[in-house]
Amino acid sequence: MNLVIFGPPGAGKGTQSKFIASKFNLHQLSTGDLLRKEIKNKSILGSTISEIINKGELVSDKIVSDLIEKFISSKNYKNRLIFDGYPRNINQAINLDNLLKKYDQKIDVVLELSVGLKTIKKRISERQTQENRSDDSQEIATRRFETYEKSTEPVIDYYKKSKLLKVINGEGSIDEINVEISDIIEGI
Ligand code: AMP
Repeated sequence: MNLVIFGPPGAGKGTQSKFIASKFNLHQLSTGDLLRKEIKNKSILGSTISEIINKGELVSDKIVSDLIEKFISSKNYKNRLIFDGYPRNINQAINLDNLLKKYDQKIDVVLELSVGLKTIKKRISERQTQENRSDDSQEIATRRFETYEKSTEPVIDYYKKSKLLKVINGEGSIDEINVEISDIIEGI
């Protein structure tokens, strides 16, 4: 199966994706991780990407689409992908449907981690001390949340219409959320 995990910055998408990937033998495709890798490798795109990430805005749809197509087109990952951090806007949601169709695949479920702003702020400030991500500063995290509300939240309606959406209470503990997600996946 292919699944999308969805939620605001700090909702726990990465943590939960790693857990699902290992439990169900899937591959976590985190566009944030792929973009950070480009920055680390000092690729030509790296400095442009770094500037955008550090403003809390979205990297261009074309850059991210090219990165994910490499995985969608690979036989090794066919029907084994967890999209963590993609799509981030309606254009990307449409693009994902088209890319999957091109490689004879589809999305089986979309998991939305629903978390309030207070919890998000707390989690991001905890993560900053652990991972030292430059975009986890309070100022940039606030911009990322605004970007989420403006560009990414409308994608929820897109998936509601296609009846793929499952909403999960992301306020619980990591273990509680693990259990809820496992139950959903096992029920598919
Ligand atoms: P994340 O690790 O998912 O929190 O992503 C970190 C940052 O990478 C985001 O704030 C965006 O600047 C960028 N990014 C990640 N995924 C995407 C995407 N699908 N489209 C555009 N930008 C993205």
